[in-house]
Amino acid sequence: MYRTHTCGELRLEHAGESATLSGWVQRSRDLGGMTFVDLRDRYGITQLIFNMDENEDLCRQARKLGREYVIRASGIVTERSKKNPKMLTGDIEILVTELNILKAAEVPPFTIENDTDGGDELRMKYRYMDLRRPSIRKNMELRHRMAQEVRRYLDSRGFLEIETPFLIKSTPEGARDFIVPSRMNEGQFYALPQSPQTFKQLLMVAGYDKYFQIVRCFRDEDLRADRQPEFTQIDCEMSFVERDDVLDAFEGLTKHLFREVLSVEIEGTFEKMPYSQAMEEYGTDKPDLRFEMKISELTSLAKGKGFRVFDEAEYIGAICAEGCAGYSRKELDGLTDFVTRPQIGAKGLIHARCNGDGSFKSSVDKFFNQDELKAWAEQLKAAPGDLILILAGEKESTRKALSELRLEMGNRLGLRIMDTYRPLWVVDFPLLEWNEESQRFHAMHHPFTSPKIEDLALFDSDPGKVRANAYDLVINGVEIGGGSIRIHDTDLQKLMFKNLGFTEEEARKQFGFLINAFRYGAPPHGGIAFGFDRWVALFAGLDSIRDVIAFPKNNSGRDVMIDTPSDVSEEQLDELRLQRKK
Ligand code: ASP
Repeated sequence: MYRTHTCGELRLEHAGESATLSGWVQRSRDLGGMTFVDLRDRYGITQLIFNMDENEDLCRQARKLGREYVIRASGIVTERSKKNPKMLTGDIEILVTELNILKAAEVPPFTIENDTDGGDELRMKYRYMDLRRPSIRKNMELRHRMAQEVRRYLDSRGFLEIETPFLIKSTPEGARDFIVPSRMNEGQFYALPQSPQTFKQLLMVAGYDKYFQIVRCFRDEDLRADRQPEFTQIDCEMSFVERDDVLDAFEGLTKHLFREVLSVEIEGTFEKMPYSQAMEEYGTDKPDLRFEMKISELTSLAKGKGFRVFDEAEYIGAICAEGCAGYSRKELDGLTDFVTRPQIGAKGLIHARCNGDGSFKSSVDKFFNQDELKAWAEQLKAAPGDLILILAGEKESTRKALSELRLEMGNRLGLRIMDTYRPLWVVDFPLLEWNEESQRFHAMHHPFTSPKIEDLALFDSDPGKVRANAYDLVINGVEIGGGSIRIHDTDLQKLMFKNLGFTEEEARKQFGFLINAFRYGAPPHGGIAFGFDRWVALFAGLDSIRDVIAFPKNNSGRDVMIDTPSDVSEEQLDELRLQRKK
């Protein structure tokens, strides 16, 4: 028998019993008369002790154990004289009477502990060892728990988990497809799904009125910290629903996960904020509501006073940093550096201090008198002691920069408190997005998203203003999921394709199967998909999704462990009738 207990299981109450453990050698310490070995498995660490006086041979054997050796040890559970309150098994140790080396190991390339000395690339190359580290293991356990709770909750609400194919025809989700050549169909290709969007809609046509799937999706995009070429969605769809039915159902799921996994009770219903308000007040469609510090527009107040930067700007906006009027020159320079870095792209930062005596001191005093600065302060509801930070320029990018500055100030002032959660629904997104390159509208979400019925008339006058019946779930500034009510009316779908610049022929070629299906009885339906990796990362308190994925890719989309993408043989290419382009 390899083990009677795990390495995380034994306590004082087991003292006197015999036990057999198997696991990996975390480390071994030789203290002359005694040798101590920390034995690790998935469940924890237990100290083994070998005593020279009692069994010299065994003790000598123990001294030879290297890190990550896999061993089996049997002995008596004994109360420790020096207890370790930091370890769950710290009250006991095992006085070993029998030792077997199950597999010797080479010296690992980095330390298998929470604080490792291994760089990113190295840990990815030896991911199976990285996964032994308790901090990563905790993430895997959290991910598992969340997946189980998603299934438990949705099952209890009558949702069916149904798998959809991976080898499909390209779906229009805005990103690039990964394509797979077909051997049996010469010269033709499958695409890997960017999401099961069309299939879940077909399932609604089929009458499976509540569907979900925890499913891998594939997008050939440039990668960032929170992006992977393959990622997991909790994909859901419901029939005979209006927007709020969908939001209620998944607010329920969200609260369930918080309660069961984090023991956090989210009170009340989630706030619903229109996209336009989110952009105006927070400069982003995923506002972090853990703190206020809303953006105020100063364009009409600050323009036309002879300050060129403002006079030439399309938009002037500001935030008020409470209690920061005393910021030093150096601190302000730091903020200027922050907003002018290329990722943020502002040209400069203007500030105005609200002094304790009610007067103002600004970096543009030459152009604005005290009354004018007072008007800014009033607009921002700034009080004496506060610092007003102003950016000016083109509207969209300036709002975006203000949003980043707001988050930075939130960080500096400690307002983005860990373990506090502020979920909200962002609703009423624009339906269409103008694309400069192709000189036509693209669907902001996807072409099956329904416009808001009250906006239909705008298609003729101002298509860019049509709002979508779409929604995102945002928690603490992270977009956790998004979805929409779909178009189930054939004429409306035609109108949509027309506005997206598809000819009937093109639409039929790409989505014929869906258009056809809708002719045979499509119920009103809508759904949502959650980024599962991001949700796990949020619950784990991590920024990057990499540490919540067992085998992630690096920033260039490579798996450095199995060393892929990699070459294939000429025979394989021949079979597929593919030729390398010279
Ligand atoms: N398929 C969409 C996505 O992956 C989500 C949805 O509309 O349900 O973003």
